[in-house]
Amino acid sequence: GDRVRFAPSPTGFLHIGGVRTALYNWLWARRTGGTFVLRIEDTDRERSTQESVDVILDSMKWCGLEWDEGPEVGGPNGPYFQTQRLELYRDFAEKLIARGAAFRCYCTKEELDAQRAKLAPGQHFRYPGTCRTRTDQPDRPYVIRMKSPTSGATGWLDLVKGRIDVPNDAQQDWVLMRGDGVPLYNFGAVVDDITMGITLIARGDDHVVNTPIQIILYEALGYALPKFAHLPMINGQDGKKLSKRHAAVSTTEYRDMGYLPDAVLNYLARLGWSHGDQEIFTRDELIQAFSWDGVGRTAAQYDAKKFAHVQASHLRALGDAELAERARPFAKDATIASAIDGDRDRYVGAVGTVKTRATTLIDIVEMVDFYFREPPVEDEKAVAKFLVKESAATLKALRDHVAKVDSFDRVALEASVNEWLAQAGLQMKNVAQPARVAMTGKTASPGLFDVMEVLGRERTLARLDRGIA
Ligand code: GLU
Repeated sequence: GDRVRFAPSPTGFLHIGGVRTALYNWLWARRTGGTFVLRIEDTDRERSTQESVDVILDSMKWCGLEWDEGPEVGGPNGPYFQTQRLELYRDFAEKLIARGAAFRCYCTKEELDAQRAKLAPGQHFRYPGTCRTRTDQPDRPYVIRMKSPTSGATGWLDLVKGRIDVPNDAQQDWVLMRGDGVPLYNFGAVVDDITMGITLIARGDDHVVNTPIQIILYEALGYALPKFAHLPMINGQDGKKLSKRHAAVSTTEYRDMGYLPDAVLNYLARLGWSHGDQEIFTRDELIQAFSWDGVGRTAAQYDAKKFAHVQASHLRALGDAELAERARPFAKDATIASAIDGDRDRYVGAVGTVKTRATTLIDIVEMVDFYFREPPVEDEKAVAKFLVKESAATLKALRDHVAKVDSFDRVALEASVNEWLAQAGLQMKNVAQPARVAMTGKTASPGLFDVMEVLGRERTLARLDRGIA
């Protein structure tokens, strides 16, 4: 199996695009019996925070993207935080210098700025190679730069994008390590990917520009190249990179909205990857079906409606008891929470009656509210329209009828009420809405007999009585 990795920079929340990158890597590791490594690229000390590390780890755990090596779990190639690996970067920098593939550059910021100032507008600065051939080692701060090739091209066969070749004159003597011994991204990533034994690198296609630089470094160090897969970006409906302006982009927002982790993974997997026209996948199905061939080459478009649809499908697929359990933490109202906890069976039954109309776990607790709140929250307009004098007699008759039904379950109630309606020369539509409003407070609810069964005889009668008064 391949050794793959996810290497986030802890500078904020975990963007759903990052989750998708992690997911594809994780699926590939699980599919091939490989290893999924999590590495924290925290070399930007100003922007990296512990809080962000915590959010990333929590988000990964919530998604169920468990890592085989990395923070907390450890592993043979640790530590897994770049700031704890500085010695390693120092060693590799020395190796590159010894091989003539890197050099110490003593140019000061002032000197480089002065050269920059001479550029015509629109011209890009290119390090002129000042220190390439220098043999002295002045007692001054220096950075380490790579000696980039000046001719030829560097390329690879990308698992997603196909053949990519980049002329080497696009490169320059990039800084690999700053004066304080902290590596820049390309160098830190290469040293880590080498020392962590990574055999396949899958990441966003915004890194395509970095890959030739990394390949040049691999070759200069004499290591075999890993495979590369560059994943298309995720855009909003306007074709621009998906951001907060378009949608919820932080993984924790989906958790807090009452989305299920498997639904989030399903939607993100399908965003940029396809497998025939199948839309809904369980986690195991994704592992079975995932391959780099199915990943599209061009940007994918985020669609909140499709996401909600995938979420609703996963929610419906859960059994009532499990769904009830998962939704329970979203019951923030203390009265409802304790009513639910005091009557678990009724709660599970209630969940079963609302789940086909719910999208999120929050919908579930909101939709079962009327079963547990005494009196239920009432829609004033519905009350004014249906709980009127004219309906009182029918409602009373219904009440007296259901009071006598032997077995208080949906099927028996329905059969018995229908028989009574026929005998009384009434139609369902004469009783349905008044009874519904009396029992639920609203004009839209689960089926009448489902509601009665879950409420039970006593509560059903009490609520019908209130509707008559
Ligand atoms: N820390 C880099 C990022 O978050 C990792 C890129 C890579 O996977 O090489 O973009």
